[in-house]
Amino acid sequence: MNPIFADLPTTVFETMSRLARETGAVNLGQGFPDDPGPEDVRRKAAEAVVGGWNQYPPMMGIPELREGIARHYAHWQGMSFDPGTEVMVTSGATEALAGALFALIEPGDEVVLFEPMYDAYLPLVRRAGGVPRFVTLTPPQFGLTEEALAAAFSERTKVVLFNNPLNPAATVASAEDLELLARFCIRFGAVAVCDEVWEHVVFDGRRHVPLISLPGMRERTVKIGSAGKIFNLTGWKVGFVCACPEILRVLAKAHQFLTFTTPPNLQAAVAYGLGKEDGHFEALRADLARSRDRFTAGLRDLGFAVLPSAGTYFLNIDIAPLGEADDVSFCRRLVEEHGVAAIPVSAFYAERAVANLVRFCFAKRDETLDAALERLAGLA
Ligand code: PMP
Ligand code: GLN
Repeated sequence: MNPIFADLPTTVFETMSRLARETGAVNLGQGFPDDPGPEDVRRKAAEAVVGGWNQYPPMMGIPELREGIARHYAHWQGMSFDPGTEVMVTSGATEALAGALFALIEPGDEVVLFEPMYDAYLPLVRRAGGVPRFVTLTPPQFGLTEEALAAAFSERTKVVLFNNPLNPAATVASAEDLELLARFCIRFGAVAVCDEVWEHVVFDGRRHVPLISLPGMRERTVKIGSAGKIFNLTGWKVGFVCACPEILRVLAKAHQFLTFTTPPNLQAAVAYGLGKEDGHFEALRADLARSRDRFTAGLRDLGFAVLPSAGTYFLNIDIAPLGEADDVSFCRRLVEEHGVAAIPVSAFYAERAVANLVRFCFAKRDETLDAALERLAGLA
């Protein structure tokens, strides 16, 4: 058995959700909304199944969805992707990440990773034979510096794996950070795999800027998105990749032997959803921002130190002022003794460089957030 996977613990998200189920805790750990998602989009998926759309769809995705993705990014991000050669549908962003890393990395290639990093990244990079080079980002800004990039990049750098907006930090990269990163990718000839699953979940008037839109990045960036986050339907696992034809052709070779296709009814429903008017997406964001504000205010009233959240379903609290130094044991006590599941942010660092932050998912109904706040009373 390969130790890269054999020696791994179960993901923190699954572990926390299981603990929450077993203890009856309010689950603010794993990132998923407790609302069912947009009814018309769900209805489209059901109609497509009943209507008979159940056999293998084309490997690259149904044309309606590939065109829908291209149109959507043209409208929202000013990008121009050719749906025939630059867009591919995958089974979630996770498959897109795995496929991109397997297709782009040769054993011994260096891969620049920014921590905190989504938990799938490191095992996939290692299994692809990549040698990780970490850039450690720290609260509250989680920003890049020229010195940190200079220390991580080398002539052997092949791939840079960048997540923006950043889970779990809930930050959005500044224009300066994007420019700095682009400059390093170009200087060292690296391909940027950009995980932008949270691109629509940005608040307070922010606009997502894809790394691929920066000068010199069009031919060296793999842009990854996920309908799960765009429509609050996280279980659907419909992802997409946009890249120049030379790169996408290679990614497609990995895709054909990872999953080959993605359920056609879900693709049809996502194609329909992506074409919805701007107001739909703005309402989803506004709703999430309202939940963020409600939960932030509630936590602050209880005395917790809350970090700002510029995007994603998440916010973090700093437990250092509570005299706590270990986020893992804090989260264990939180779920077992107080009935609230959360995620220790150290799980996103290779060496637990940051262990004083705890992540909560606020993409929940008011009753759920209020129930959690009631249970957290007296802790701060
Ligand atoms: N990347 C990041 C940063 C995520 O937060 C998530 C899930 N929340 C994923 C990838 C996985 O996306 P999907 O469910 O579409 O595979
Ligand atoms: N991305 C989700 C989160 O950050 C979890 C997805 C998963 O459970 N793998 O909570």
